[in-house]
Amino acid sequence: MDIKEIGEFGFIEQIADRFKSLVPKSIYGIGDDCAIIPANETEDFVVSTDLLIEGVHFLRDKITPFNLGYKSLAVNLSDIAAMGAEPVGAFLSIGIPKDCSSELLDGFTEGFMALSQKHDTPLLGGDTTKSLRDLMINVTVIGKCPKEKALLRSSAKARDVIAVTGNLGDSAAGLNVILNNAELNSDTKHLIEKHNKPEPQINEGLWLAKQNGVHAMMDISDGIASDLNHILKASEKSAVVDLQKVPVSEILSRTAKKYDWNAAELAVSGGEDYELLLTISAECATDIAQQFYAEFGKPLHIIGEVKAPVEKAIQWVSGEEKLPDFKGFNHY
Ligand code: ADP
Ligand code: MG
Repeated sequence: MDIKEIGEFGFIEQIADRFKSLVPKSIYGIGDDCAIIPANETEDFVVSTDLLIEGVHFLRDKITPFNLGYKSLAVNLSDIAAMGAEPVGAFLSIGIPKDCSSELLDGFTEGFMALSQKHDTPLLGGDTTKSLRDLMINVTVIGKCPKEKALLRSSAKARDVIAVTGNLGDSAAGLNVILNNAELNSDTKHLIEKHNKPEPQINEGLWLAKQNGVHAMMDISDGIASDLNHILKASEKSAVVDLQKVPVSEILSRTAKKYDWNAAELAVSGGEDYELLLTISAECATDIAQQFYAEFGKPLHIIGEVKAPVEKAIQWVSGEEKLPDFKGFNHY
């Protein structure tokens, strides 16, 4: 059978099923942003790995080496943030083709290091090999959190509100700018920067994990149209999401207008925003949002509500009006 038929998530389900019986009860394996492994009496380790392949995840001549290094660690740290955990260290495996200059590798290392320093994530090891054509970068990150306090995708409860930590769609618009060779100005440069140099929400994740009433959390890598489904499936729930409440930056709004792009679609289906998507008990949501603003100087956006399970996982609305479905990013 062709991979297209089972899809990325079908393949993951197949391997998860096959290995299930080998995973000890104390370990949480495939299925969340990180695996969870007991560290000691009071703490758990969380571990995640992400692969970036030239031509699939980045174009070598459309991203600075510094930003490529930064992004390689950022997309991994984002999964640590998604658990509400604190980074411990990182491993870097890299396949380098012959035509990679030492300047590129230098810049890459600088960018990787800049984010390592920002979040105290030392590089602890890795592997280096030749690649025949494409530059390939695999990063593994380890984090830690208080025992059994990692925020899972499976903890959403009916009547929770659904929240996101920042604007969505800038990154996807940045990719559009790159692929369409759109004219460079301060707006389009900002969008490209959002795509090429995402910020993992480590401090926000740590803070949110400490608040009573925060239930489920994950990071937004494929767009909420896909990612929210993971929370709903794992928690056996459905949801209503109001497009009018999905936060979109001024810059995205005016750039989308200029090029006739659908800003709402980029926001929910685009992906690679690396903001956090979470559910919060309705009673605590207003307080938590206020405290979040006081702590981080930016709003926590409430975009919808978790419901009891029904056939349609997500009902998209715009105010009172029901909307058709959106699809998130899928590799196949
Ligand atoms: P994320 O976007 O948060 O990195 P993914 O959607 O890539 O998560 O993966 C979902 C889950 O499937 C994760 O728990 C991840 O570790 C697991 N997974 C993905 N690919 C593989 C694989 N090839 N082998 C084992 N587990 C995998
Ligand atoms: Mg993730």
